[in-house]
Amino acid sequence: MTILENASCPKCGLRMESGYIYPTRDIKWTDHNKRKFTTLGDEILVDSVFIMKKLVSYRCRNCRIVTFEYESSK
Ligand SMILES: [Zn+2]
Repeated sequence: MTILENASCPKCGLRMESGYIYPTRDIKWTDHNKRKFTTLGDEILVDSVFIMKKLVSYRCRNCRIVTFEYESSK
């Protein structure tokens, strides 16, 4: 992965600092915030198989926003 030199915060527009994020559990994506009893069917962005894999990330400390690049598409 290439580290972006000019990633900007989607909220305030300032330059974000680069670093790495590493999950200890799966990171999943869904397009709604309805309460569910299972996460089946939700998209896995980062599989816990990659538990120690550090993902390129960008952070805005002011807005407390982190973006990261993921590899899994299950
Ligand atoms: Zn910001």
